[in-house]
Amino acid sequence: MTEVQATVEKARSAARWWGGLSHNERRSRLLAWKRHIARHIGELSALIAEETGKPQDDAALEVMLAVEHLDWAARHAGKVLGRHKVPSGMLAANHVATLEYLPLGVIGVIGPWNYPVYTPLGSVSYALAAGNAVVFKPSEHTPRTGAWLADAWAAAVPGEPVLQAVLGDGSVGAELTWSGVDKVAFTGSAATARKVMATCAETLTPLVVEGGGKDAMIVAADADLDAAARAAAFGGFGNAGQTCAGVERVYVERSVYPEFLLRLSALAVGEQTMTTPEQPAIVRAHVEDAVSRGGRAVVGGPSSITDSTVAPVVLAEVPEDSIAVTEETFGPTLVVNPVDDIGEAIRLTNASKYGLAASIFSKDSHRATGIARKLRTGAASVNAVLGFAGVPSLPFGGVGDSGFGRIHGADGLREFSRAQAVTRQRFAAPMDLMRLDRDPKVMQRALKLFHFRHGR
Ligand code: NDP
Repeated sequence: MTEVQATVEKARSAARWWGGLSHNERRSRLLAWKRHIARHIGELSALIAEETGKPQDDAALEVMLAVEHLDWAARHAGKVLGRHKVPSGMLAANHVATLEYLPLGVIGVIGPWNYPVYTPLGSVSYALAAGNAVVFKPSEHTPRTGAWLADAWAAAVPGEPVLQAVLGDGSVGAELTWSGVDKVAFTGSAATARKVMATCAETLTPLVVEGGGKDAMIVAADADLDAAARAAAFGGFGNAGQTCAGVERVYVERSVYPEFLLRLSALAVGEQTMTTPEQPAIVRAHVEDAVSRGGRAVVGGPSSITDSTVAPVVLAEVPEDSIAVTEETFGPTLVVNPVDDIGEAIRLTNASKYGLAASIFSKDSHRATGIARKLRTGAASVNAVLGFAGVPSLPFGGVGDSGFGRIHGADGLREFSRAQAVTRQRFAAPMDLMRLDRDPKVMQRALKLFHFRHGR
């Protein structure tokens, strides 16, 4: 038996115990884990900073957000998933109908390296709160952060191994996918998601995919340009641009385009460390492609990228078929293109194969909300970036190459549950059609009623 198989076996027995507890019993244990993480935020954020190269304050912010979600999941699981009555309808008025969301069993979580706590906990916390055991495979770039989270669980909730980590490279992720877990929650690239889905198909293991993004910001002519530029800089350059729902493209109405570029350029400063050795080459290839196709490097350029660091790059008037526009860059680069009107901005935003999130800047908030509703994305922020990331009651996920299924919020809890529908007959039906010796006169009456109810 391999280590992954042995871990999943242990998780199976832990899942029986954990799934058998009441929501309140699980809540108190989840909150104990939460307190442990919160009390050790300094230690955990130092570890994240060490493994990812991000500043420790950014790591601390990531932990704060993750804890907020954990707290919400722990406190809301009972209300969202617990057994409740639903209307039984006219045909089954003699039944009481109840709905309950029950645990699936063991969830395999495959996590990324860019936010090694916030992102995987978006699945882990909600899966645990829904009553499942979790086997977590962190990225090979952030193994100690993954192990820390599992050790923190063992310290806060001693006994059954409800949360365990398995460490290693992609092959360990592949083995976990294949291991017979009851669902896989994957975060990473669309290319790896396709491999994971192919493996899941062989065992009919359900899957939730949090893929990447090529998120656009739309800046209307009436926008607060300072606020928009600040948000674009934070969303595009923060965490060295390695944010799935960060800003990668900006579409600005032509009348304010030069002014926006000017204000953004002033904010495009500071060299940052890239987390993985592969990432700088990807970023360089995108910047080179944009420039070779006629894009203008307004700040930085290919030379901004060394083997391990990248300084912000602002690219203007980049052809829409450049890989800097079509592929996820995952580096501190922004493509800023002018548009004739908001209609064009919406069309270009939606032309992407990705559809994770977007942001809209306009002083007319009613209009901005209307624009959001026209976007093919799972989330949108008006006059801010990543506003949704800190709202635990909102679901998170995308469409297209950005994935499917939802983490966070009530949808995120249900994602790791199976709905069970139960009816209990209270008395015999006055018109009983569910029998072999059905009375033809009763059928006649039922048909009359049917026509009266639905055929008028
Ligand atoms: P991957 O998609 O390869 O990795 C994500 C996770 O999947 C990691 O834990 C990885 O393990 C694991 N994995 C790799 N191969 C398999 C497999 N066959 N079966 C199961 N699990 C597997 O991302 P990369 O690190 O290669 O990054 C590449 C690109 O992906 C980036 O440039 C970026 O565009 C995007 N990305 C998006 C993220 C997001 O938040 N949406 C996060 C990370 C990357 P291991 O790391 O050990 O190889």
